[in-house]
Amino acid sequence: MKTYAYGYPRLGPNREFKTAVEKYFSDKIDDKQLTRALSERQEHMTSIYASTIDLYPAGEISPYDHFLDEACVLGWVKPKNFHEYYALTRGEKAFPLKKWFNTNYHYLTVPVKYPSNKKNTLPGFLSDIKEPSKELTWMLGPLTMSKLARKKDGLHVENIIDGLTDLYKFRCKNLKTVHIEEPAFVMDLSEKERQASYRFYEKLGKLVDICLITYYDDVDHLECLYDLPVKAIGIDFVHGRENIKTIGKKGFPSDKILVAGVVSGKNVFCVNPERIFPLIDMLRKHSKGLMLSNAGPLYHLPETTANENLPLELKERILFAGEKIAEIASLAKGETLYKTKDMRAGKKRRRSNIVYRVNSLTVKDFRKKVSYRKRILRQKMLLKLPDLPTTTIGSFPQTNEVRAMRSLLRRGDISREKYHGYIHGRIRANIVKQENLGLDVLVHGEPERTDMVEYFAGKLEGFFTSEHGWVVSYGTRAWRPPIVTGDIYRAEPMTVDDISYAQSLTKRPVKGMLTGPITIMAWSFVREDLSPEEVAYQLALTLQDEIRDYERKGIRIVQVDEPAIRERAPIKTREWGRYFDWAVKAFNLATNTSPDTQIHVHMCYSDFAQIIKFILKMDFDVITIESARNGLDMLKVFCNAGFYRQIGLGVWDIHSPRVPEVNDMKMLIRKCTETLGLKHVWVNPDCGLKTRGWKEVNASLANMVEAVKQFKMEQNMKGDRCRR
Ligand code: GLN
Ligand code: ZN
Repeated sequence: MKTYAYGYPRLGPNREFKTAVEKYFSDKIDDKQLTRALSERQEHMTSIYASTIDLYPAGEISPYDHFLDEACVLGWVKPKNFHEYYALTRGEKAFPLKKWFNTNYHYLTVPVKYPSNKKNTLPGFLSDIKEPSKELTWMLGPLTMSKLARKKDGLHVENIIDGLTDLYKFRCKNLKTVHIEEPAFVMDLSEKERQASYRFYEKLGKLVDICLITYYDDVDHLECLYDLPVKAIGIDFVHGRENIKTIGKKGFPSDKILVAGVVSGKNVFCVNPERIFPLIDMLRKHSKGLMLSNAGPLYHLPETTANENLPLELKERILFAGEKIAEIASLAKGETLYKTKDMRAGKKRRRSNIVYRVNSLTVKDFRKKVSYRKRILRQKMLLKLPDLPTTTIGSFPQTNEVRAMRSLLRRGDISREKYHGYIHGRIRANIVKQENLGLDVLVHGEPERTDMVEYFAGKLEGFFTSEHGWVVSYGTRAWRPPIVTGDIYRAEPMTVDDISYAQSLTKRPVKGMLTGPITIMAWSFVREDLSPEEVAYQLALTLQDEIRDYERKGIRIVQVDEPAIRERAPIKTREWGRYFDWAVKAFNLATNTSPDTQIHVHMCYSDFAQIIKFILKMDFDVITIESARNGLDMLKVFCNAGFYRQIGLGVWDIHSPRVPEVNDMKMLIRKCTETLGLKHVWVNPDCGLKTRGWKEVNASLANMVEAVKQFKMEQNMKGDRCRR
């Protein structure tokens, strides 16, 4: 059997990509040196493939984002050099970022240029690094490009695809074979969109040999791809269970190569031999030209485990991109590189109480005994908050000093006690600052957290946090997803000391601050031998224990951050019902504690119009969301859905360094109270303030408090005209 691979991470084992590009940003290297550095990355990727894999695309390297590169080829944007290219990615003129399918990679949402050019070529600075080749040139297909790009109202995907045919033909003129990725084939597609795509491949297939690669999920109407004049079809058999059934039932055309995605490009665990070999046997029966491949690009994984200090029992189970390539090659020889052990059989598991607790969950565990309407009356009495309470979302600026202290601790240059003392000092300063500003509900400021998921993963049992396991989330920004390797439980309280210390310093309520179960899962690699639902409940129970500990220490308000609920949703909307069912249950389980504890959920920006019906099932007391840029639309969404709890629409866009004006914030507060009623509105920034500087934060928070004060005064003068 032959092998095929694509999407190898460009970051490099020592984040060479990041280093080079950031050096370019700070003028430490010039265009030539950057070209050299990026070509080296491409050569590195090619050499990894070439040593192990039979077929792989050429020209995958990108200076920042492959979606933007393709937009350059299509002539939607026309940067002439790196300088102009990067101007589209950062700063004032940058295109907005959006999550790429249901992954944590963000692409740049370039607007479609329509009608499109008929002839356009890769700009020189891109072709210099992409090692152009006649064999298997890498491309993104027109369906994916047009589905994901920004479009003017009234411009349809099918028209864009039709309009791009000539350009792709021109592009392929001197090429022999092309590797075209079309992950959008797994999205919900209209009949017109599908037909336009088929029309396109009918035409292009006459000109060039095409390997048409789909991934991330099932392709509906897979058999329609069978009729296209393409040489090979890539199908995901890891994330697309229906794909397996379709092949089983309908077979595979004998004139084509099946590029079978059998090794996950999205998760780190090695294949299960009991499952993989029967699958490969079945596929072989249906396809003579079977090639084994990764399922989905490998850039969602770190490069290699070679430099990790993996405990022995994980060494055989955890593979990053480099090891996945080797796994594909060994599967093709009928071997597995690694012995899998069923994690459930582990000693720890038998001992673990959390497994027992998840198995014993009943309906009651997911539903609070006291309804929101009753809870709110009790909470009002206990908390004695003013109308329009002001608060922040959790983090305060992470200064160089905090980072420096953290690395001193990591290197063992300061003692744990000293670090702890330093963190408490920061917390004290944050509390004093908030009291002086006149905020109503305070936070400790999260100085101890590097990252809202990694921090918890580092404290919990059942997680492995890697040292060098960096993955690009966008551009040069990389993060290290933790790995869920076993049953999750809390060896000891995680945040209670810091939060109760903060509470001991003030009479105002301090919010306990937790990352929710779904967000922890979405931003981690999650074990596959348990259903995601079970993993979510393990996390939820662990967080519930933490909230109960808060309650013992007199913490009355707890915020659970769930910005990733929408992102973690399946690509196909028909699967949302099932997913949201357990996701919402996990949240409700985590927060099913005393009805007197006020539960806040924070969800950043989350496509609320699409998911509001699921949000309504989450039994929180207050929701805070990102809305400074589209507050009025958000307001409509919540209002029309009959939302009746409390809401804090972000009045200040924290993604920009601009200090918001009192009047602008007042206007948003007015709109909110007019629509939702004075008693239902909180006032807060869009999100955490971690990435901002203290100067803007001080000024902006002062303006926010001032806006509320002025608004209340004007309201009193008018005699409270708010509805409800
Ligand atoms: N509490 C977190 C913070 O303030 C929330 C961040 C988020 O939701 N993205 O940083
Ligand atoms: Zn947020």
